[in-house]
Amino acid sequence: MNDVPVLIVGGGPVGMILALELGRRNVSCLLLEETDRSPAVPRASSFSARSMEHFRKLGIAGRIRSSGLPADYPTDVSYRTRICGPELHRIALPSSARILAAAGSGHSGPTAEPQHRISQLYVEPILLERSRDFPHVRIERGSKLEGFEETDHGVRAFVRSATTGETRTVTADHLVGCDGGGSTVRKTLGIELTGDETVLQAITAFYRVPQLAELVSPPAWMTWSVNGEVLCVTVAVDGRDHWLIHAFYPAGTDTSGVDAGALLTQAIGRPTPHEVLGIERWAGRRLVADRYSSERVFLAGDSAHLWVPMAGMGMNIGIDEAMHLAWMLAAVHQGWAGPDLLAAYEAERRPVAEAVSGFATGIGKGLLDLVSAEVNEEDSTAGIASRQRLGREVAVADSGQFTPMGLSFGYHYHGSPLIAADRRPPEFSVAEYHPSITAGARLPHLVLEDGTPIYDRLGRDFTLLRIGDQAPDPEPVVRAASACGVPLQVLELLSPAAIERYRSPLLLVRPDQYVAWHGAAIPESPRDLIDRVRGAGVPTRNAGVGISVKVP
Ligand SMILES: Cc1cc2nc3c(=O)[nH]c(=O)nc-3n(C[C@H](O)[C@H](O)[C@H](O)COP(=O)(O)OP(=O)(O)OC[C@H]3O[C@@H](n4cnc5c(N)ncnc54)[C@H](O)[C@@H]3O)c2cc1C
Repeated sequence: MNDVPVLIVGGGPVGMILALELGRRNVSCLLLEETDRSPAVPRASSFSARSMEHFRKLGIAGRIRSSGLPADYPTDVSYRTRICGPELHRIALPSSARILAAAGSGHSGPTAEPQHRISQLYVEPILLERSRDFPHVRIERGSKLEGFEETDHGVRAFVRSATTGETRTVTADHLVGCDGGGSTVRKTLGIELTGDETVLQAITAFYRVPQLAELVSPPAWMTWSVNGEVLCVTVAVDGRDHWLIHAFYPAGTDTSGVDAGALLTQAIGRPTPHEVLGIERWAGRRLVADRYSSERVFLAGDSAHLWVPMAGMGMNIGIDEAMHLAWMLAAVHQGWAGPDLLAAYEAERRPVAEAVSGFATGIGKGLLDLVSAEVNEEDSTAGIASRQRLGREVAVADSGQFTPMGLSFGYHYHGSPLIAADRRPPEFSVAEYHPSITAGARLPHLVLEDGTPIYDRLGRDFTLLRIGDQAPDPEPVVRAASACGVPLQVLELLSPAAIERYRSPLLLVRPDQYVAWHGAAIPESPRDLIDRVRGAGVPTRNAGVGISVKVP
């Protein structure tokens, strides 16, 4: 017997979400994090609608929405020559309070939990606090994974304590590397990252600038400075005095001499009293791991893929992977998974990383053209005309980045061995999301008659929706699931809105809210259906989910 069912390496957002979801599913796990998780520079500022849906499941969406920027702070994106200079273009976006009010008002919206702008800085303490509510979750900070070996019964990991320097051995049934871009887990498995090594160079600096809230006027969540001297974006962290600047340079630029104070002056257009809280120099890449797993070891988050943060999806895709892997690992540990379930993790998720990384990298490369843009900052007719031209270029270069509903919800698992054969779901498109009940697509959102979003009523594992009073008796599917130990809940929906929305009398929904099958009648062999969705049907290796992303 091993020490722990699941050993997680890395306590960044992805590792923490994996731990929480395993905890919610009553699967014991130990998370090792080598640091105290107080990085000098917070990175992510944008949590996708899909991540917010996961946070709702984990019981923390409300807490996250009420932290960070004030609820009435607009999430506009403004493009200027400099913060104190003229505006080139503005994408007007609502405050989080307005976004949430609009989401709750109708049946047809795509989600009850729209995307939310908040710094990782505020989210991580909430994740840690929530982990204490799950008795199956143990978080160990100051513990570093030094290496591991796979055994006949699991994994033997070698762990060093940062305080005593002592090394101990921990055995686990499964190990998940959520240990970031330099992943020890990935390297130990001998898995290569392939793609584009350097798309761009960048600097991220974190500041306290008491006067900046007055200068960013009208207020904006992000303000780009495009002036031929620097290309950077200033991000409001708390709506008051804390700000982040991400500055971008062509690949190959040596950024070691760039000073954070000088960068702030270039962004604002004049020297402003400030305190530099941290600075990080990094390279923007597009790299995806060749494999996501071995028999008992898996990768999730930055250990599996790295790409430029345009569209803010690196962490969000990692969070979705963690939730995905959690239900699959829980199925194994609870004894109802088929032999091919875990292998489907890579088959379903790797194509998503490939597609999204391609989209983000395209935006990154397009924006780099603005580094050397000719910008006439004069207050003259020629200056105004040239800035109008630049505004139009900026609008094209950066289109689709900030309202990516399609990016959040449009990817699908058509072609996965866990998904029943069906026609192809709508094309994965960045800008638009087309709700679909096609097998392999995310179950479309619906607000039930009592005002509850449907996702709140789904079971923790599989749910069979029986829609309309003419729908067949689902008993044969329930019996087949029960025979395999697959937890399945039946949810009856009788409202005209549900019939209109789902247009199918029976719909089998997976633990990750994706449609596994739908039909008008009970399938010929309910057992074959259940075997397929639990990974005991068709062998998984090399089965392919083929998606590519359509950009605006
Ligand atoms: C400037 C910038 C802005 C970004 N903005 C966004 C955004 O808005 N939205 C978005 O989705 N993404 C964004 N990203 C990407 C995002 O930051 C990453 O995708 C995300 O942090 C990945 O999370 P992770 O948990 O996989 O890895 P990490 O955050 O890198 O965490 C890995 C953890 O593992 C620990 N670790 C490593 N090795 C070991 C070991 N051997 N033993 C124990 N612990 C170990 C590390 O200490 C670390 O805490 C941004 C990235 C950058 C650079």
